[in-house]
Amino acid sequence: MHTSLMISYRGADVMIDCGLDWLGKFERLHPSAMVLTHAHPDHAWGLREGAPCPVHAPQKTWETLTRCRVEDRRLIKERTPTKICGITFEAFAVEHSILAPAVGYRVSAGRARIFYVPDLVFIHERSAALKNVQIYIGDGATVTRSFIRRRGKTLIGHSPVHTQLTWCEKEGVPRAIITHCGSEIVTGNERQLFANLRGIAAEHGVEVRIAYDGMKLML
Ligand SMILES: [Zn+2]
Ligand SMILES: [Zn+2]
Repeated sequence: MHTSLMISYRGADVMIDCGLDWLGKFERLHPSAMVLTHAHPDHAWGLREGAPCPVHAPQKTWETLTRCRVEDRRLIKERTPTKICGITFEAFAVEHSILAPAVGYRVSAGRARIFYVPDLVFIHERSAALKNVQIYIGDGATVTRSFIRRRGKTLIGHSPVHTQLTWCEKEGVPRAIITHCGSEIVTGNERQLFANLRGIAAEHGVEVRIAYDGMKLML
């Protein structure tokens, strides 16, 4: 399925992202609210027919998502901690796309704190974004190859897992989960890939796992 994350805390279930794969399906998960990272089809087009709950997204994402029939549209301002159903979301701008500007979310509830960013080249205010974060959940488009392209002055695409693990090391994040995996992970030789990834992660002192549909984690 297109990558999505459900945060459950004290009876509330807040879903981050809802790609086209989820069209007509996500309703059965009964989310209390939804939050979007950006307007690309694999993150937002599951909402084309609307949503049965409030949907929170940055202004630039709403401007791009003109054809989604979401009625209860809520605005999330960057760098402004926002409580949604008792869970705090803080959006950080990330470089990724010109047409669909993206954010990552620093999510906290109780003593748990994670950072979720399925698509990115880099985080603009990385230290603030990752401070005291227990788990970084990041972009699995590529492990070592670069998917970064230059468009004028801006960079678009995806940073490899390798680069993201160096950020975790620098900011003291002990664990990383790789999600939204690209073909290098999905169709690669699993044993070889894991060995390679563990090696890279160990060099940076980070514990790494690869996400899968239905993965659950208790914090
Ligand atoms: Zn994207
Ligand atoms: Zn994506």
